[in-house]
Amino acid sequence: MSLDYIPLEMDSNTIQTNIQAIRDAVPEHVTLVAVSKTQTLDAIASAYAEGIRDFGENRVTELVEKADAFPDDVRWHAIGHLQTNKAKIVAPLSHLIHAVDSTRIYEALAQHKNASPLDVLLQVHIAEETSKFGFLEDALRELFALPGNDTFGNTSIRIKGLMGMATYTKDTTQIAKEFKGLRSLFEELAPSMGANFDTLSMGMSGDWNIAIDEGSTMIRVGSAIFGART
Ligand SMILES: *Cc1c(COP(=O)(O)O)cnc(C)c1O
Repeated sequence: MSLDYIPLEMDSNTIQTNIQAIRDAVPEHVTLVAVSKTQTLDAIASAYAEGIRDFGENRVTELVEKADAFPDDVRWHAIGHLQTNKAKIVAPLSHLIHAVDSTRIYEALAQHKNASPLDVLLQVHIAEETSKFGFLEDALRELFALPGNDTFGNTSIRIKGLMGMATYTKDTTQIAKEFKGLRSLFEELAPSMGANFDTLSMGMSGDWNIAIDEGSTMIRVGSAIFGART
């Protein structure tokens, strides 16, 4: 079979079939976040009707528009690199922020807490591409190792775990190696982080099965649910 065109938007049935297939393959302890960036409200509504409540967005304007259009039981995940001047808008709308990739954004988010602490993940740079964001592993180790360190000690923020994106490659050995590295870092940091530190967000459409094998507890899947993005 040859695919000579890319469908721009999938119909509702296809979206729901895709979700069912992924759910069937994903163990219960792993949360499926449907990455709905660039997708229409209709496409998101199809996933919502299929029971999906966790949606991932990477642009602030889209997040605002979509959060406004859907019921409050949706848990919005902010998965994209954040600018400090957007912290104020994103913090109150997000169930979990996956992309804390600098101490600057951490501090900016800490200023915009709600009544309850804001849940975040520290993004770690595990891929080869330098275009990807995240703390370098050693930089993060250093931040944690400082004696009396309170770099991440703000009580208005709860660090729930780590997030990472593997290199975009067909080399599954390399992908597995990168995920394994993130898992080890997670386990290394966990003892000093307490019981809230329980989330390892890794795995996307092309590599979520590898990520789960390597210990992921949360996968972020877009195109395998909604079809290719333009
Ligand atoms: C777009 C995106 C995804 C989903 O990518 P797919 O390959 O479409 O599943 C996951 N995580 C992040 C951070 C993204 O930006």
